[in-house]
This record gives sequence, C-alpha cells and structure tokens, in this order.
Amino acid sequence: MVFNYLQPTDILFGAGRLKEVGEVSGKFGRSCLLVTVPSFPEIEPALKAIKSVLKKSQIKVEHFDGVIPNPTVEVVSSGARLARECGAEFVIGFGGGSSIDTAKAIAVEASHEGTCWDYLFFRKTQPTDRTLPIVAIPTTSGTGSHVTQVAVVTNSMERNKSALFNPRLFPRVAVVDPELMLTLPPYMTALTGFDAFCHAFESYITPKCSPYIEILALECLRLIVHYLPRAVRRTSNLEFREKMAWADTLAGLSIANSAVTLPHGIAMAMSGMYPQIAHGQALAAVYPAIMRYTYKYAVRKFACIARIMNPSLESSPDTKAARLLGDELERFIENLGIKKSLRELGVIESELPELARASLVLPDYKNHPYVVSLREVEKLLCQCY
Ligand code: NAD
Repeated sequence: MVFNYLQPTDILFGAGRLKEVGEVSGKFGRSCLLVTVPSFPEIEPALKAIKSVLKKSQIKVEHFDGVIPNPTVEVVSSGARLARECGAEFVIGFGGGSSIDTAKAIAVEASHEGTCWDYLFFRKTQPTDRTLPIVAIPTTSGTGSHVTQVAVVTNSMERNKSALFNPRLFPRVAVVDPELMLTLPPYMTALTGFDAFCHAFESYITPKCSPYIEILALECLRLIVHYLPRAVRRTSNLEFREKMAWADTLAGLSIANSAVTLPHGIAMAMSGMYPQIAHGQALAAVYPAIMRYTYKYAVRKFACIARIMNPSLESSPDTKAARLLGDELERFIENLGIKKSLRELGVIESELPELARASLVLPDYKNHPYVVSLREVEKLLCQCY
C-alpha cells in the first residue's frame, strides 16, 4: 500500500455550468486564447455562449480555431504565435481531446523557446512555471484530458505521435458541462466513449494500479458498460451524457495517477503513421486480440472486468471469466458499431512490421501485465489485420 495520488485541477461538474467559465477563469488574467476546431453548426451555439460569458466577465478573447483531430506540431505553433501576439495570459481548450491537448501544448510553446516537440515527456528540458494557465472545457467524453497532465501531439514529418507529460499541464480548471456533449454524433460518441473505457481498463490492469485508482477505474467501467450503448442510441439524452462525462472524468483521474498499457502504445503509433485513424478506432481494432493474448497474466482483474461486462459470469471461476473477456470485448465493440480491422482502417499490410516497432517506442507497453516482444506485437497486429 504505497502510492501517490495527485489531482490539482479544480473540477466544476454539471449541466449548465459553462456559464461559470468567466467567473472561474478571471483570476488568470484579462486576456485569453480560446482554442477550438473550426466552427460548425452543431458547436456554434456553444461557441457563442462561451464568448459571451467571457465578455461579460471583461475577459478579452482571441479565437484560434485551427485545431484538427490528432493535432500536429504545426497547428500548435500557429496557435502559440497567436497567443504571443495577443498577449494571452491564459489558454482555454474547448472541444474534444484534440482541442484541449492543443491548448496545453500552446500554453507551453507560447511561453518557452522552440516548439512543443522540444518538451516531450522524455526530454531533459521540461515546461517551467512560465507555462500559461490552462482551462479545459470538454465537449466529448473520451480522453479525460481535462484532468490529466498529458498533451498528445503528432509530428507529421516523422510520422510520430508522442506526448508532453508534466504536472504543469494539468488544467487549473475543468468545466465539465454534459450539455456540451449532446451534439456529438453516435459514431463519435462510441469511439470517444470506448477510449474512456480503455483508460479505465488499462489503469486497472497495470501493476501500477493503486487501491485508489481501483475504485475510480472499476466505477468508470461499470458506468461505461451500462451507459455508453444508451448514449450512442439516444445521443440527446442528458442523463446518459452526464454519466458518460462523469465516467470520462474518472478515467482521466485514473490515467493521471496510474498508466496506460500496450493497446495505447499501439494506438499512438497507429495514429502517428495514419493520422486519419481516430484514437478510439485504433484501440477498438486491437483490444480483443491483445486481451485474449494476455489475460493469463492478471486473471483476477480480467475476471472482474468480464463480470462487469457480463454479470452471468459471476458464478464462473476466475480463469473462465478472464478467458471469456476477449469475447465480451468483441461483442461490446460490435454493439457500439465500431468494429473494424486494421485493413478496413487503411493500414498498409507491408507496414505492419514498422507499426510493430513504433508500438514499442513509448513506454506504455512496459506497463502491461505481460511485456510483449517485438515478434509478439507483429503477430498480434497480423491477427487484427
Ligand atoms: P477530437 O477532439 O479529435 O474530436 C473528434 C471530432 O469530434 C472532431 O471533428 C470534433 O470537431 C468533433 N466534436 C467534438 N465535440 C463535439 C460535439 N460536442 N458535437 C459535435 N462534434 C464534436 O476527439 P477526442 O477523441 O476527444 O480526442 C482525441 C485526441 O485526444 C487524440 O489526439 C488523442 O490521442 C488525444 N488523447 C489525449 C489524452 C490526454 O490525456 N491528453 C488522452 C487520450 C487521448
């Protein structure tokens, strides 16, 4: 029982709480950079609302709307330039993980030499306390980025996706307003929700899991198994969105204090090489195969998740329940409508060996209950093809 738990983000949770953004972020200054994807009809009313709330609190807003899914170093640099030009004192990331991560990386690049890529988790030079304060407002329920110290960025030249990881990247404030998620279409609801599922799953099965994270992760898995299929079917149901926003927050708190494992290493490599592949889609393509291959190394935990997914396994022995988890995952992914092979996702077969090598670059795979070899990853990827 030796563990740490850190959560410095002030979390404001609940429907309608967007209107408090001006009040809670005013303490960071009078001038901010709002970071979003280009506007589209579903998100326009929320964008108008946030700008008007900030204006009422006499906060000057410069809007950077150049975020793309799987944001790149170039996107971050454009935003950082704008932040410097307008003298932004803090940054607001409004949107999915891509917008929040871009805001975090801008907060670093706008206040430091070089680009955000110079501050990746393994570099000697790390973000200092000059990093601009970050306010995060999620509009998806998937990445948990609003409560993590992580910013994921893609380097398209290197076909590489990596991350900044530093406590200075914890948002100072997270406003989690489930009303903002009501417009997310079914497919994106499923993909992002499955990402949150994987965060809880992996932070629970890793040997790095603490008793604290066990509670958060298992509650998150229960919520997602029950509410994600409902949220996908009835996207405008506020109760389902609330439960998913809470599950996503729990999953973020879990990865911030535990770890992700092999599937995330592979998914990061996949989006680095194929930026068109959404993060949740990459995870869904490899999950059942990986868990079938590795269940023997954490039988009690795999059995526990299997019983959450299928309560009829309650009376089965751990070994049987754990073995059947792969089938439960397959069914779950199929029911969510996100089952696709690597071939269907556009992965090139001859690049599987390169993808396998790239999957073992980030340290995530070392957190898995069983540490796979390069040969084993290659085999797993071939199975998922
Ligand atoms: P996203 O931010 O890329 O958004 C996906 C799409 O959904 C976009 O086109 C966006 O415009 C749209 N969208 C978002 N909210 C909407 C809404 N309310 N209504 C309608 N459309 C909406 O997706 P994401 O899955 O949230 O984020 C993925 C990124 O986050 C990836 O780069 C991934 O690697 C990263 N990530 C970060 C962390 C972290 O801790 N920082 C954790 C996991 C993943």
